[in-house]
Amino acid sequence: MTQKRKDPSPYSNLLVMTVRPLDDNAALVLFSGGQDSTVCLAWALTRYGRVETVGFDYGQRHKVELECRQNVLDVIGKDFPEWAAKLGEDHVLQLPALGQLSNTALTRDVEIEMTGSGLPNTFVPGRNLLFFTYAAALGYRRGLGRLVGGMCETDYSGYPDCRDATLQTLAKAIQLGTEADFKIETPLMQRDKTETWSLAAKLGGPSLVDMIIEHTHSCYKGDRSQRYEWGYGCGSCPACELRARGFHAWRENESAQLADETS
Ligand SMILES: [Zn+2]
Repeated sequence: MTQKRKDPSPYSNLLVMTVRPLDDNAALVLFSGGQDSTVCLAWALTRYGRVETVGFDYGQRHKVELECRQNVLDVIGKDFPEWAAKLGEDHVLQLPALGQLSNTALTRDVEIEMTGSGLPNTFVPGRNLLFFTYAAALGYRRGLGRLVGGMCETDYSGYPDCRDATLQTLAKAIQLGTEADFKIETPLMQRDKTETWSLAAKLGGPSLVDMIIEHTHSCYKGDRSQRYEWGYGCGSCPACELRARGFHAWRENESAQLADETS
């Protein structure tokens, strides 16, 4: 006699499945060489015993970020011995299909502008969903239970794949789809750029702030010919403006605080 199978709720499986053991004290950081992912890397290195990094090469118009990421890793290895001891392998995954699918200012030689949908044309549709899914596949192999990314709801014109609800729903799908207890962590989700600079100072003091200024990259145009107080860039694209504005606001807060303490 064939027994009719009870149709299970997709989530009830979570309670009985054989969960692949992942190390809760080990993280994989989505690391692009930009300011945000560098702060996330520092954040993970202060929290977890083992941290690996993953970068994605999908035909970005400017390879400069990928070069910056190597420089950041080199400086951590040299100047931050406590963090260097926890920093494990760096992985770069080639995702040429993403470049092929996107017609945006990051991958093609076009000007950055707002589109009819209210999003800037720098938006690569669903990019972070793919990044985290690939990160989970890699984390599964490496036994890394925490997936960390620098997405943020407060800046960047409301990219829908940067929202907390999107990413926590994706985390559920990844848990179900891998039968492994991955957690997605986004320490910058509710922080604006001013608070990101301040977090960097808190995590690694002036040497981390200096390293971010010198070695990380934000400029949409890939311009590193001019050096400002806040780092290299064209100084006028939305990414440079955001970074500069955040830096100056953070500096002002710092001096105001110092003045308060010494008065
Ligand atoms: Zn720029």
